[in-house]
Amino acid sequence: MNTKQLIETDRRHICHPYSSMCGDQNFIPVERAKGCSLYLSDGRQLIDGMSSWWAAIHGYNHPRLNKAIEEQLQKMAHVMFGGLTHEPAVVLARKLVALTPEPLQKVFFCDSGSVSVEVAMKMAMQYWGAKGLSGKNKFATIRSGYHGDTWHAMSVCDPVTGMHGMFKGSLPIHFFADQPRIRFGDVWDETDIKSMRSILEQHAGELVAVILEPVAQGAGGMWFYSPEYLKALRALCDRFDVLLIVDEIATGFGRSGKLFACEHAGISPDILCLGKAVTGGYMSFAATLATDHVAETISRGEPGVFMHGPTFMGNPLACAVANASIDLLLESPWQERVNAIEKQLTAELAPCASLPGVKEVRCLGAIGVVELNEPVDLATIQPRFVEKGVWVRPFGKLIYLMPPFIIKPDELSKLGKAVREIIEELGNSRAKQNEEELNNEVD
Ligand SMILES: *Cc1c(COP(=O)(O)O)cnc(C)c1O
Repeated sequence: MNTKQLIETDRRHICHPYSSMCGDQNFIPVERAKGCSLYLSDGRQLIDGMSSWWAAIHGYNHPRLNKAIEEQLQKMAHVMFGGLTHEPAVVLARKLVALTPEPLQKVFFCDSGSVSVEVAMKMAMQYWGAKGLSGKNKFATIRSGYHGDTWHAMSVCDPVTGMHGMFKGSLPIHFFADQPRIRFGDVWDETDIKSMRSILEQHAGELVAVILEPVAQGAGGMWFYSPEYLKALRALCDRFDVLLIVDEIATGFGRSGKLFACEHAGISPDILCLGKAVTGGYMSFAATLATDHVAETISRGEPGVFMHGPTFMGNPLACAVANASIDLLLESPWQERVNAIEKQLTAELAPCASLPGVKEVRCLGAIGVVELNEPVDLATIQPRFVEKGVWVRPFGKLIYLMPPFIIKPDELSKLGKAVREIIEELGNSRAKQNEEELNNEVD
């Protein structure tokens, strides 16, 4: 198919994330990808600033990851996980248990991040059910969170920016505490967790668990808060007998500067969700980890088993590439790389802070964010980035970069320059618009 046919057939038949189901836009065909570059079918090359949504930490088309899949493929692509097991899954479970906080000892493999959140929520429900506390059936979370698009994951996403309004009536109602406002690195003050504390004080009897993204909130607002919040929350959950679920789907595997963002706070959750970068961005895969205590409690209760089991659970190809990705990460100087990216992102994006229309610039680990005062018009801004030879996909008021860890300084410079120029262009076109409106009034 030529590029034109691809685009037209896509428009006619294919749904894309958060898009019209009836082809109102052209999607850009990618032919191949290598390192930090996407190669389009029209011959253009784009530097990738998104890591395909936090996932492709080693860049694209990595020989080691390719080889892991190819070797596993010669043995078996898939086999059911009910009644059977296999080495790629066992090796991966051992790695995940070794890398995550010590109390987490049990691994449930899932097909995607959202499913791992559903699984975590079900585990927490079954935990209290097993203890005979069926009155506990609500969750608490913080505002501006994002936990996925499936039903119960959606119910704990931010009630304003999430889909609560649209699905009102069939989404369970949970408790939303204020978003932590003390920034990462700033001096901690207990009042920041007041709203969450009062939810726990008043509703502990109904609460199954608190679920949140640790330190760095992703798709709900790209916000970085004090690890002290997590420490205080861990203590509150213990005090009020509520489980703590930490969603590291976006932050896991080095993105925030630590291997897992919980490490900034030195805490361990009762249940942990991993996804996105777990396979180095190769395929959809995730895991939910639980403590022995949670696992044993569930298994002692009725019906004695945990009630979940995806068809493609523990997929051997995904496990094999996850094993290779984790080895590759740990063998690499990932921490120095992420620190260097943070330093360069901070320098590249700093000039944006003084541009018109910019609210603030913030960076943590390999995440750089420019928050604007107004939402961007994706339909006009996206092609501008492509014209500048970069792949950056803003959402709402946020223009952000989260490149693969292997990005080179000159590639990151190109991304930074494109972001600065486009924000300047936005400011200029707004100024022009205002001037025209003013002139019209004068006329
Ligand atoms: C992306 C994401 C999810 C959902 O993962 P999917 O694989 O898209 O289902 C859940 N939680 C967080 C924090 C995420 O960033």
